[in-house]
Amino acid sequence: MSSAEQTRDGVSLTNLDQPLAPDAGASKRDLVDYLDAVHGRLLPWLRGRPLSVVRVLRGQAPFMQKNLPKYTPDWVRRTSVWAEASHRDVSYALCDDRRTLLWFANQRAVEYHPTLSTVDRPGHPTDLVLDLDPPEGADFGVAVAAARLVRQALADVGLAGAVKTSGAKGLHVLVPVDGATSAEEAAAATRALAVRAERLDPALATTAFIREDRGGRVFVDSTRAGGASLVAAFSPRLRPGLPVSYPVGWDDLDAVVPADFTVRTVPALVADRDPWAGLLPPPQPLPADLVEQGRG
Ligand code: ATP
Ligand code: MN
Ligand code: MN
Repeated sequence: MSSAEQTRDGVSLTNLDQPLAPDAGASKRDLVDYLDAVHGRLLPWLRGRPLSVVRVLRGQAPFMQKNLPKYTPDWVRRTSVWAEASHRDVSYALCDDRRTLLWFANQRAVEYHPTLSTVDRPGHPTDLVLDLDPPEGADFGVAVAAARLVRQALADVGLAGAVKTSGAKGLHVLVPVDGATSAEEAAAATRALAVRAERLDPALATTAFIREDRGGRVFVDSTRAGGASLVAAFSPRLRPGLPVSYPVGWDDLDAVVPADFTVRTVPALVADRDPWAGLLPPPQPLPADLVEQGRG
């Protein structure tokens, strides 16, 4: 409907009144307005990082898009990455500015999954990620308890982390690491930390890769290392009500209801204040013996 069209930052926005997905409970306009409202908070997590997005086109199943489509305008910054698995170059977007974010929003890109390293320093992740995946049907409280184990495991080796909701079921603990850290070292240290968390309370947390072996425990997923991606803080998730991945202070974890952070509530929460303020530790060097433990 042309009457619904408008242009923002040079990007034409189309069909804004269409629903995003049957059960999303939000229109395309809700998505565009949200991303525009929080672009100042979201872009720092996207800038310079090869980006995958989850798009939902009308009448189609949602899909994760890595390779940019042919019709992408040439002003969208991009980088070519060799994909070993599919033996081809993948052209990833670098979502560096508001205009690109609005273009993605108009493409019905709901979720934003940047890689953990930047194009300036490929092979050197900026953060370790311990991804906490609660078992099917579990109370969110078990994910919180597992996050506390990870926090203790970090403290035991002199590291600090920050936590955010995934926007879906679990939590992500981020550990900023310094530029000397290689992907291999990051992967090893992440594994070692996951095992340390598991040992602190084996009845609560598990590193078992096989689902059947987890027995109702929280999976401390250490595989989101190196070249992998992670949904960005402030990215919506394609779930009913469009919940948002959101930073939480360690002291606030017990009171948190992840579903409270949605495209409707988050703009007001971030308007005057960076929710990461005071929560994110500075980039840290990895203890050599921790890396060694993870290699063993
Ligand atoms: P939840 O809380 O439900 O676990 P999540 O975002 O943590 O949500 P995971 O399945 O644990 O989901 O995956 C962690 C991260 O790994 C995701 O945020 C995503 O960036 C990345 N990821 C997972 N599966 C894929 C995939 N098939 N392709 C690309 N990236 C993926
Ligand atoms: Mn997860
Ligand atoms: Mn996971």
